Amino acid sequence: MISPQALALAQELVRMNTVSANSNLELIHFVRDALRTLGVASRLTFNADKTKANLFATLGEGKPAGVILSGHTDTVPWDGQDWTVDPLSAAVQDGRLYGRGSADMKSFIALALANAQAFLDSAAPFAIHFAFSYDEEVGCFGVRELIADLRDAGIRPLACIIGEPTGMVPAIAHKGVYRYKCCVRGKEAHSSLTPQSVNAIEMAARLIGKIRDMAEGFEDNEPRYEGFDVPFSTASVGQFHGGIADNVVPRDAEFRYEFRDLPTADVRAMQQAVLDQARALEPGMQRVASDTGFRFETICEIPSFLGSVDDPVTRLAQRLSGEKGTTLVAFGTEAGLFKNAGIPTVVCGPGHIAQAHQPDEYASLDQLARCEAFMRGLAASRSIA
Ligand SMILES: [Zn+2]
Repeated sequence: MISPQALALAQELVRMNTVSANSNLELIHFVRDALRTLGVASRLTFNADKTKANLFATLGEGKPAGVILSGHTDTVPWDGQDWTVDPLSAAVQDGRLYGRGSADMKSFIALALANAQAFLDSAAPFAIHFAFSYDEEVGCFGVRELIADLRDAGIRPLACIIGEPTGMVPAIAHKGVYRYKCCVRGKEAHSSLTPQSVNAIEMAARLIGKIRDMAEGFEDNEPRYEGFDVPFSTASVGQFHGGIADNVVPRDAEFRYEFRDLPTADVRAMQQAVLDQARALEPGMQRVASDTGFRFETICEIPSFLGSVDDPVTRLAQRLSGEKGTTLVAFGTEAGLFKNAGIPTVVCGPGHIAQAHQPDEYASLDQLARCEAFMRGLAASRSIA
């Protein structure tokens, strides 16, 4: 059974609207103030216009280094979704906590906070850090500032547990998500005069064909990484815009595409192959008009994550969750960013991704109770692993 106090805290966080487009400061200030009453100071790092913040705090100041409990404070929106409960109501029904963020991932944050005093009282030889970020759902942007701040401040945590919803099963790998926008500038003309034009849609299509060929190449040739739903890297085009009329050769076209790379794949080489193809097409375009060509923008680059069953933090998560095995997850998280900063990382949190981002998102009270036991076990731990 989850304690009433921890459940109330999870409800309180769910009731705060922290859709990524909004400020998350209500939640961050709430956590900061709660920690302050326990005598714990928080480090806040802000976005450019100071409307959003990350929070980092150390419980057990003076201990040599610690274990990070990491969660993102933002949620996806619910526009157009058919909910039978108010997404901000945090209703408890049928053994479930309902609401946006209940699974992804405010319950984990609430359970960490509910155990703050236990972490302070802990006799463990390591500290516990809270790392609560903004703008994870739109590209893991906030946590980069937080990680840079730790580096600048010389804070070197021992390990990181990311409480994304894995059903409390430790996850040790996920693919990356790399998204780009390609803007094609051609030259317009009456469609009866095509030799005097550069058709932006057709040039875009050539590049899209390249991306499709690459995707088929991954499927045919890439060494498999068993355990993922799709055990090879994928590429796809998600949006396309172009053209104004049937009889006008289009000057502009724009498309967005993504790679979801295996942890064992080279995603930089994937994007480079697209850039190379664009550079190869440009001379032919520029023979007609010099200001034509391709321009690329990065939408997001969320690195893949590959932990290890042998990492002490994986064994710690197994012990605290009571799970003997590990899993892989299909979704991106901040794990690759922490791992790439030299911090051994595992993903383990309450609720299931199948309910995340959906109408009537929920986390079962049973999952919350398992996460609470995990936190209490962590406070009682005398070593990592
Ligand atoms: Zn999440």
